[in-house]
Parts: sequence; structure tokens; C-alpha cells
Amino acid sequence: MRIGLGHDTHRFEEGPARRPLILGGVEVPYHRSLAGHSDADVLFHALTDALLGALGEGDIGDLFPDTAEENRGRNSADFLRYAAGQVGNRGWRIENVDVIIFAQAPKLGPYKEQIKKKIAEHLGLPPGSVGVKAKTGERVGFIGREEAISAEAVVLLENDPK
Ligand code: MG
Repeated sequence: MRIGLGHDTHRFEEGPARRPLILGGVEVPYHRSLAGHSDADVLFHALTDALLGALGEGDIGDLFPDTAEENRGRNSADFLRYAAGQVGNRGWRIENVDVIIFAQAPKLGPYKEQIKKKIAEHLGLPPGSVGVKAKTGERVGFIGREEAISAEAVVLLENDPK
């Protein structure tokens, strides 16, 4: 078995939203957006890093640099699907994943089911193998002050001899 851990943070842009707020591949209606070179999907970035970590690889920035023009505004599902592909290529399969989104706002409770389904779809997992939790910052720290959204992810891989 292999375990992988991922974390990411994206700060909110100043002023009104310049683009949709995408979390776990789901567009969440909000009047502010996250800064980032790609689509700034902080949750998919953390999950991608967890998969890469389980494979003993580096991080998402090594594979998809934020200096590369082809990654500008890019759909982060591309990164996630690439990492999931690498898992299969190397003889592993994903047993389960568990993620936490840290956001004071917007309220994510109504979107957790959609995010869970989206992750399950991209990784080819039953929804029961995907945990999605959302926590606020209790109004303290950079999450609580609504300066940023963070995400953490863990994955478990099992050997999949074909
Ligand atoms: Mg990121």
C-alpha cells in the first residue's frame, strides 16, 4: 500500500470575482474569486499532489509550472486526471481518498455532494470511497479572515497487479 498527502492554498483576489470560483471541479456561486495561474481549483491541486506524493513524485508545480503559458486558466481536472493515470500506469489503484476544504465563505455544505461525485467521476471510484469535508476558520487566521481558501487531501493506493 501507499499513502499520499496533499495541501494547497489560494488567496482571494481583491475586488469582485474575475472568474468563477471552482472547488473540486464544481462552480460555486460567489462574489469573489481565487488568484491562480490555472483555474485556481485549490482542492484538485491538493488532491493531485496527494496522488503524486503516493507515487514518490514531486508536486503539481514540477509537472505543470505556473510559468507555462499552456497552463494559464487551465482546467485543474487535467492535472488530477494526469496524476490518476500515472497511478494506473505504475501498477497501483486508488482505494480511497479523503479531502478537507477550509473556507470561511462561501458556505460549502450544499456543494459537498456534487464535489464528491465529481472527484469520484474523475478518479473512477465509487462515491463511497471519496470523503469530502468542509470546515470554516472559526473567524481566526487567514481562512477565518476570508483571505484565502485551503485544501488538504490524503489518498491510499493499493497494488493492482494486472
Ligand atoms: Mg494551487
